[in-house]
Amino acid sequence: MRITFQPSSGRGEYEISGHTPSGIRPVDLLDHFMMLRLNGLSIDTRIKLTNDQGKYRLRVDAATRYPQAQNQLACAILLPKPIRAESKTEGGQPVVQANAYIIKHISLDNVTITSTTTFIADVTTIDCQNKTVQAEQILVAQRMSEVQRIWQQRGKLPDNIAAFLTQHEKTIRSGDPIPRTTEKLVRELQEAVERYSEDAGIPYTSGTDVVPVLLTMIAEVVEEVPLSLEQIDPSQTKLRHREIKKWQIYASRRGADSVKFRKNVQTAYDYRCVMCGCRYPSTPYNRNPGIDAAHIIPWSLVDLDEVYNGLALCKLHHWAFDEGLLRIMYRTGTYYVEISDEAMINLKPSEFSLDQLQKVVGPIQVDRLPHNRSDWPRPDLLERLQRDIAEELE
Ligand SMILES: [Zn+2]
Repeated sequence: MRITFQPSSGRGEYEISGHTPSGIRPVDLLDHFMMLRLNGLSIDTRIKLTNDQGKYRLRVDAATRYPQAQNQLACAILLPKPIRAESKTEGGQPVVQANAYIIKHISLDNVTITSTTTFIADVTTIDCQNKTVQAEQILVAQRMSEVQRIWQQRGKLPDNIAAFLTQHEKTIRSGDPIPRTTEKLVRELQEAVERYSEDAGIPYTSGTDVVPVLLTMIAEVVEEVPLSLEQIDPSQTKLRHREIKKWQIYASRRGADSVKFRKNVQTAYDYRCVMCGCRYPSTPYNRNPGIDAAHIIPWSLVDLDEVYNGLALCKLHHWAFDEGLLRIMYRTGTYYVEISDEAMINLKPSEFSLDQLQKVVGPIQVDRLPHNRSDWPRPDLLERLQRDIAEELE
């Protein structure tokens, strides 16, 4: 049996045709809700088969208004959003691009009527089509197992990408209909992958399939340890900067992975941002603390996981620190928060809320630092960071 896209004026319709080896016909499934199984995971689509002037068509339940079956399917296997208007597809490769292709066929196997209101089926393949390519086939079980592999290894990816994947897995595993918010999530995941792919040096085109890129990212992370900076001739500034960038990515991933470093920094600072003093521990009402553990020197010159190479920062100040807008300096026994000269000179108050960042500028009270003096941010590392930033700006 299969579900086929039928073009009609404007938006197309999805019709079921064929019959199973055991003799189940579309008429037997009439007024039943469709459950789909993908590599063993079931999704209750809440999409019903109806009789529309003698045609067996899939219809969205007006009361719940979950996305169409093909859209739920695309979400489950992380495909970009398909469309229903053939005239709006685009040509060329890749076929699967957000809002530029149609899911033409969905092939079903093991169709079983499970109750008077429900039937279930395995999805075996889907055929995608655009203006110039008639059928690009996706093997669904294989594809779903790739998505499951990405779920399992998301710890190797940056935090924001991992968070999208956590949410995605939760939704798909629930077995409930896939809501519209998941379509949004897939789009946001594409955007996050696009931003990260540049740093990671893995090509990704906006709006295309994220799965091959994510598979490359989790595979590369295992092997790729950047070059030690001592091995690079200081005159090779380009190479040096590229490896520093790689170390930063490596450290942020290890930071995400290295529970020990994160925990040690968070507890040493008692879940307080060293810049603003905000305290955001985890509580019965929030699972994750709002305080990050940032590395001062994110590359291989020092042990990445020592507390003296870390700072506890809230989300805002972590960002401002990583971007070099705010820095921490040590002078004659006192730590200071400073704003970078470049930011002061170049950023306009009408376009950038520099005044919010300026609020934390000044000396840091000792009670915001770790109890144990040997855990305090090492002044030579703070200085080294500034030297490397200056070098990078040249
Ligand atoms: Zn803060």
